[in-house]
Amino acid sequence: MSVNEDLEYAVVGKFSYGWPNIQELWKIIPKQCELKGDVNIGLLCNRYVLIRASTMEDYINLLSKSMFYIAHRNWYYPMRTFKWDPLFDPEEETSIAIVWISLPALPPNIFDRETIFSLAAAVGKPLQVDLATSNKTRQSCARVKVEVDLLSDFPKRVNVGIKKKTGEIVEKWIDIKYDYLPKYCKSCKLHGHNEKECFVLHLELYQKEDDNEIVDTTKEVASTKDDVEVEKKDKVETVKQKINNHQESWQENGQVEVENGVEVECLNDGTQKKEW
Ligand SMILES: [Zn+2]
Repeated sequence: MSVNEDLEYAVVGKFSYGWPNIQELWKIIPKQCELKGDVNIGLLCNRYVLIRASTMEDYINLLSKSMFYIAHRNWYYPMRTFKWDPLFDPEEETSIAIVWISLPALPPNIFDRETIFSLAAAVGKPLQVDLATSNKTRQSCARVKVEVDLLSDFPKRVNVGIKKKTGEIVEKWIDIKYDYLPKYCKSCKLHGHNEKECFVLHLELYQKEDDNEIVDTTKEVASTKDDVEVEKKDKVETVKQKINNHQESWQENGQVEVENGVEVECLNDGTQKKEW
């Protein structure tokens, strides 16, 4: 197996609050993430592990949940997963994600996997259809899992030419529905929030959350123009340093949206959400 093939289904796991040692992770990640094929797991760098799956099914499974809760010795370690990128940088999360899209009211004559994939290609890279679509037991709506770039546009419909028996080709617009689009901040290059909710871009949002701290940092009065610039830069850096803490709460909010949408994630203890 070449290096590239070995990394075809590679996924990065990010632990935010500690992690079991790598020898333990070799055993518990395949089991708890329900991986069926061979898998190679190694520490990438601080808090990041590289999970090299060997099958498309495991790859999709790893990227389909917004958060895994890895249980070890009566503790849960939250682990988020991202598609591995050759230019992986721990400071920047990839904008690639996997989402479900639906094509409601798709005419039965074009309700086949090949056509559905070609329609879904307008959104991203189609990976798989759901069972009901595959078995054609729900002709009212086709559902496809698609790898998307969250920085790209998401079309609400796609035009298709349907050939009639007479040879005439008629155009038809097919609607595209998105079950849930993860949030991604282009400025921070992080998942879990968008630019409107970004504390770095909107310092006033941070001020609202933590009034006391901001009041403290503004007590010192800058005496020169340079001081003002330094103070402004320092404040942005402070917010950036704390962004990871808020990131988890943003992520938890995102998780709620997933729960309200299609995929409800259940923990081992039967609850649907872990409070930290
Ligand atoms: Zn941001």
